[in-house]
Amino acid sequence: MKLAVIAHDGKKAEMVSFLNKHYNFLHQANIDIIATGTTGTHAQNAGLKVRRVLSGPKGGDAQIAAQVAEGQIQAVFFFRDPLDKHPHEPDINMLMRICDVHNVPLATNPATAEMVLRGLTQASDSKK
Ligand code: PGA
Repeated sequence: MKLAVIAHDGKKAEMVSFLNKHYNFLHQANIDIIATGTTGTHAQNAGLKVRRVLSGPKGGDAQIAAQVAEGQIQAVFFFRDPLDKHPHEPDINMLMRICDVHNVPLATNPATAEMVLRGLTQASDSKK
């Protein structure tokens, strides 16, 4: 199972602390984490194992969207900062659209991500 994580600059600290909090679970459930460039660097600096694609504004969101479309990603946690402007807004909207097209869970804040994680636990338990 593969989980994509992306966080805007104002939400990166929140993403790292969310991943830290749930890292044992993610590891035990064999969930691989893929992240946009800078989010991934923050997570790696905190000692977490994640694979990185390009930075969001350089096409990282589009790379993740492509993997969602190909069925390689089972959930996306995208902690967006609604109080900031983003030059790559079209890519952000595209990623969210692709998640909806393919019915892939998309959490845009930690409260929702927490609930999606609980759902993923059940999904991985039922496969055992
Ligand atoms: P970043 O990209 O992790 O490279 O900062 C996030 C984003 O899409 O804004």
